Amino acid sequence: MSERILIVEDEPKLAALLADYLRAAGYETACLADGLAVAPSVRAHPPDLVLLDLMLPGRDGLDVCRELRTFSQVPVVMVTARVEEIDRLLGLELGADDYVCKPFSPREVVARVRAVLRRAHRPPADGVPGLVIDDDGYRAIYDGHALDLTPVEFRLLRALAAHPGRVFSRDQLLDHLYPDHRVVTDRTVDSHVKNLRRKLEQVRPDRELIRSIYGVGYKLEE
Ligand code: CA
Repeated sequence: MSERILIVEDEPKLAALLADYLRAAGYETACLADGLAVAPSVRAHPPDLVLLDLMLPGRDGLDVCRELRTFSQVPVVMVTARVEEIDRLLGLELGADDYVCKPFSPREVVARVRAVLRRAHRPPADGVPGLVIDDDGYRAIYDGHALDLTPVEFRLLRALAAHPGRVFSRDQLLDHLYPDHRVVTDRTVDSHVKNLRRKLEQVRPDRELIRSIYGVGYKLEE
């Protein structure tokens, strides 16, 4: 059965163009032009992915994405007209999975959609070659070596490894590190990442598994 993409775009021509390309790539499509209609539609007919324009009548894309995340983990690809917006979007911790900038080529959008869906369907344990997260045993195996991690480092690695390729802000990582919401600073995350990296590098000096995304946070290489 083909996967269904919900296109939320208030410019009819653009929506039709995206729908054409996505259908040609084998996806089913549905279109909405109003931000207020998105959450009810996702509840009624959960799509496999939402392509979400930022500027929408009714409710803007940021609010729509936040609203979706209160009840759904559906992959969301945000579409924005301004490149400068991207860093800000990532920093907002909306839980979007990826971003495309207008003007875009429809081909690029299809490729992005495909990549996000592939990521969403992959079981986390397969996400990073050579890395095994043993949730019950609270330990991680990297290239056959058991890593000697503190509980905080383990939670950090587990959070990143659950979504390889996804960029996490420091705030998002803090939520995973300290479930009790202890007050700590962004620097705390940086120092744990530093220690974790050192332990990973002891096993594989040639591989940079955790990447820094300047001004935003961290991600695990896919
Ligand atoms: Ca728009």
